[in-house]
Amino acid sequence: MSDPVPQRAEIVVDVAAIRHNVRILKDLVSVDGPVQLMTVVKADGYGHGMAEAAAAARDGGADWLGVATLDEALALRAAGDRGPLLCWLTAPGADFAAAVAAGVEVTAYSVAELDEVAAVGGARVQLKVDTGLSRGGAARADWEALFAAAAAHEAAGRVRVTGLWSHLAASDEPGHPANDAQESAFREALRLAAEAGLDPEVTHLANSAAAILRPSAHFDLVRCGIASYGLDPAPGVSPRLGLRPAMTVRAPLLMSKAVRAGDGVSYGHTWHAEEDTTVGVVPVGYAEGVPRAAGNAASVWVQDDRRPIRGRVCMDQLVVDLDGELPPPGTEVVLFGPGDLGEPTAQDWADAVGTISYEIVTRIGGRFARRFVDTEATEDDAPGDAPEDLEGTTR
Ligand SMILES: *Cc1c(COP(=O)(O)O)cnc(C)c1O
Repeated sequence: MSDPVPQRAEIVVDVAAIRHNVRILKDLVSVDGPVQLMTVVKADGYGHGMAEAAAAARDGGADWLGVATLDEALALRAAGDRGPLLCWLTAPGADFAAAVAAGVEVTAYSVAELDEVAAVGGARVQLKVDTGLSRGGAARADWEALFAAAAAHEAAGRVRVTGLWSHLAASDEPGHPANDAQESAFREALRLAAEAGLDPEVTHLANSAAAILRPSAHFDLVRCGIASYGLDPAPGVSPRLGLRPAMTVRAPLLMSKAVRAGDGVSYGHTWHAEEDTTVGVVPVGYAEGVPRAAGNAASVWVQDDRRPIRGRVCMDQLVVDLDGELPPPGTEVVLFGPGDLGEPTAQDWADAVGTISYEIVTRIGGRFARRFVDTEATEDDAPGDAPEDLEGTTR
């Protein structure tokens, strides 16, 4: 990104891109009236760094942060976040007292879980109903019992039921019948909850794709993960919103050299040079989360061209085709980035290996260093070089 010669393999995260994306999403969902925005920063901020992603999201206008585990929520508090914060994946025996002490809202999927939360006293708890994903949340047959138990605990002053929510199965396919079915099931849950005497502050159903593609599913709040990082939740379907990918992954070239026609490359010789060419060695591999399936499938960016990965991706390194060129050691290799210069994107990698961009960015890590930059920082608030290097290595 900034330095011409990377000294190490690094993940560069532009916090300005996260701020920008969060602002865009907030504006988008607020067009027809106020809708709160939750930025989902689970899984280490989808691989971008949870605390830094969270801070950027708050700066961009996120009303809420969302995480899966209570440990993630407590880590955000330890990092200094004090705003509305929800977690939704607690196992029996979780430290709900710590959640209450830290002002973290928790989610109950069942009466048993709700009873556990209520036993602590003083919790702010949201209820999750399964409207058709058949994953977490109360099954349809258990809704009335969950709502009745919640209302009883609330009446006794043991909990405050702050939210009621669900999660979509196919929001990236707007025409999928599950969307209508789940939305109407959710509306039924809202009716039943009201009948039971519950009056939650927020009701929510939409993830990124539904936030972008399905205004009828916005309710009081949307939970945006992937789009906050500038990646498209529904490739080929979403309108252009001007989201900016925040992550660039790059490494220094270790060496380049000639190979002859017929030479096999990397383990198992799954690729042979058809003609004389040159190859380069890049010191990152599947231990860094580079998919092994990227061998003979994905490309990287070297000296203003896309260069295909040849042969198998190894644990610590991979080999790329340099098409006759012999760039010096230390030449920048970009695995993926925002795509502005023509470099591959996380979406390109996902397409190449048959997965989704979510998996590409969350799995990348290993021995990569992570560095944060702020491409919007001005000389005034950041004396020194631009883009501002915020943290240096944090992992
Ligand atoms: C991860 C997650 C989200 C965010 O989904 P995106 O598709 O990344 O926007 C929203 N809600 C729940 C319950 C999640 O687990």
